[in-house]
Amino acid sequence: CGVAGVYANEDAANLVYLSLYALQHRGQEGAGIAVSNRNEIATEKGMGLVADIFSQEKLDRLTGDIAIGHNRYATTGLSELQNTQPITVTINAGVMSLAHNGNIVNADEIKQELVKQGAIFNSSSDTEVVVHLIAKSKKEDLLDSIVTALSQLKGAFSLLLMTNDKLIGVRDPMGMRPLVLGKLKNGYILTSESCALDLIEATMVREIEPGEMVIIDDDGLKSIFPFEKTAPRPCVFEHIYFARPDSFIFGNSVYEVRKRLGVKLAEEDDVEADLVIPVPDSGVVATLGYSEKSGMAFQMGLMRNHYVGRTFIEPSQSIRHFGVKIKLNPVREVIEGKRVVVVDDSIVRGTTSRKIVKMLREAGAKEVHMRISSPPTAFPCFYGIDTPTRKELIASTHTIEETRKYITADSLHYLSIDGLMECVQSYDYCHACFSGAYPTMHHNGD
Ligand code: 5GP
Ligand code: SF4
Ligand code: MG
Repeated sequence: CGVAGVYANEDAANLVYLSLYALQHRGQEGAGIAVSNRNEIATEKGMGLVADIFSQEKLDRLTGDIAIGHNRYATTGLSELQNTQPITVTINAGVMSLAHNGNIVNADEIKQELVKQGAIFNSSSDTEVVVHLIAKSKKEDLLDSIVTALSQLKGAFSLLLMTNDKLIGVRDPMGMRPLVLGKLKNGYILTSESCALDLIEATMVREIEPGEMVIIDDDGLKSIFPFEKTAPRPCVFEHIYFARPDSFIFGNSVYEVRKRLGVKLAEEDDVEADLVIPVPDSGVVATLGYSEKSGMAFQMGLMRNHYVGRTFIEPSQSIRHFGVKIKLNPVREVIEGKRVVVVDDSIVRGTTSRKIVKMLREAGAKEVHMRISSPPTAFPCFYGIDTPTRKELIASTHTIEETRKYITADSLHYLSIDGLMECVQSYDYCHACFSGAYPTMHHNGD
């Protein structure tokens, strides 16, 4: 998911709208904006893409100078309107709105406990659990309630909270998902990725740190570290695939990391071929690195129709199936008679890769060598990336050679896990989807 929040700007809702637009890649199922006029909070939500949800009319209704917004990417809960955010509720301490990126791994446990105590839930998303915990903790001070509630959560949360007169941003102690602070000419912005700051001409101040909570109100900006300290474990897959290359997250430029992944991939490779092509868009930057390192010519051998969403976000298998053909088409003039290296960021089920290889052969490729700028995805993610169950992940049920056969490539190589880690040195990243080493606990990956 993507989140954005603006404090003390007359155009708060419009700026959040634009930010959500820049963060569309982080979730395409639905979006919403909540705005405070310092008295009450108004919320508008809908299903689909940001540009389709918010008409001028709707935006005009969102008046006030504090706003938060959310792009939904379903990882838990069904794809339906009830599960879109922000969630706006009235509790003892007043009215409050909340937008969440990440996944709470102990949400079900907490939910069962709360239901036993009489709580009622009207969505299947894990975010509602957070709201209940805050409402229930009934401390004098809302901030204390929030801290008490969030301290019970395990997993990933980059969270925005808005009250009548405050904007609050929090990153979980492991800092699994990004969150960045920017300064507007008037006011502040908190958002998932810095590409949103560029669009609205905010300057990047800094990233919110793992375990940090910033409270912005008319007294200014206050930073606290209310949680038990633990080693940061940001999600390495943000760099590989999820974040936009023009963003700066976890102390690194996504573009530069992705390019290094391609360089490393070429270093670990010795295939002989005529040209290297990306699977657009996710493979493009790594392919540049691969081409630079290997000396192999970079070509755009596959064209992408940009009016189709990322197929993997479509929740139904039938759409995913013919989505590849809608989305990608080979350029025969580039491919015909050539030995082609094709670079993508990851293989999940293998169905897309198989179709791509077939497509390239039909366009006359003499050889097709698939290269992946990350290690085999053999374990599901529990922290906010929508990977399927373990048995649907081709790398968990097939060896690399079996996967190569399945996708019908002449050869298949993945980046090694050590190679990956050399490209992202600033943290001990989470790499559980590749290694199975879950930073939270007791998962066996099923
Ligand atoms: P596959 O060959 O596994 O069907 O599809 C691989 C493609 O899925 C890659 O181009 C990759 O960009 C995209 N992808 C990346 N991350 C994810 C994810 O988390 N889930 C799914 N389903 N697809 C992803
Ligand atoms: Fe990111 Fe993979 Fe860890 Fe999930 S399991 S948080 S996708 S690195
Ligand atoms: Mg892709």
